[in-house]
Amino acid sequence: MAAEPDALSRRTALEAHAAETLGCTRCRLAQGRTQVVYGVGDPDADLMFVGEAPGFHEDKQGYPFVGSAGKLLDRLLAGIDLSRKDVYVANVLKCRPPGNRDPQPDEIEACEAHLFRQLELIQPKLVATLGNFATKLLSGKPAGITRVHGRPQEALVGGRTVTLYPIYHPAAALYTPALLKALEEDFARIPGLLAGSGGVVAPQEAQVIQFPVAPAPVAAPAAPPDEQLGLF
Ligand code: URA
Repeated sequence: MAAEPDALSRRTALEAHAAETLGCTRCRLAQGRTQVVYGVGDPDADLMFVGEAPGFHEDKQGYPFVGSAGKLLDRLLAGIDLSRKDVYVANVLKCRPPGNRDPQPDEIEACEAHLFRQLELIQPKLVATLGNFATKLLSGKPAGITRVHGRPQEALVGGRTVTLYPIYHPAAALYTPALLKALEEDFARIPGLLAGSGGVVAPQEAQVIQFPVAPAPVAAPAAPPDEQLGLF
C-alpha cells in the first residue's frame, strides 16, 4: 500500500495547486471575475466548510466568505469556540457567477476537480456543506438542504471516509430567522461530530467520489454587486 503523504508535502502540494488554479480558464466565469477565490484556512484542518461560489466581496478580496454571510459564519464558529484559523473554507465554484446567479451545471462540472483536489490534500474529517450546491455535489444525491440539513452522513471521498454534514447556507439564514435557529442548532453538533461522538449513520451505500489520479491541467487567465441568495 502506498505511504500516506505527510502534512508538509500535502501543504506544499496545496500551495502548488492554489497557484495553478489561480490561472484557471476552464469555464466562462474566468472572463468576468476579478480573481479566482481558491480557499483559505488551516491546510490540516479537521473541519472544512464548502460554500457555493464567491460573491461580490469575495471576488474583490480573493477570499471566501468575507461579506455578510462570512460575518455570520465567524459568529457561528465563535459560538462553538472555533475561528477561521481552525478550519478550511472553500466553495464549489472558485469564480463569481455574474450578478451572483446560481452556479450552472457545466460550471460545477468544470470546477469540481479543484474542490476534489483540495479535499484530497487537506484530508478533513468533517466536511460541512453549506446549502444545496455543495451538499448535492459532495453527497452525489439530489436531496435538498431543507430535507437533509443537520443529518451527518458518511461518504467515501477520494478513498477516504469523511463525514459530510449538510447545513443551511449562512446567507439564507441572514434573511430568515427560522433558518438561523436551525443553523445554530446544527452548528452546535459540530464539536461532537469532530470528537467522533455525533452519531453519524452510515448509509447503506456510501457515496464514492473518485478523484482523478492527477489534477487535470489548468490553462491561463482571463464585474461586480450584491450578495447571493438562491440557497435553499
Ligand atoms: N457565499 C458563498 O457560498 N461563498 C462565499 O465565499 C461567499 C458567499
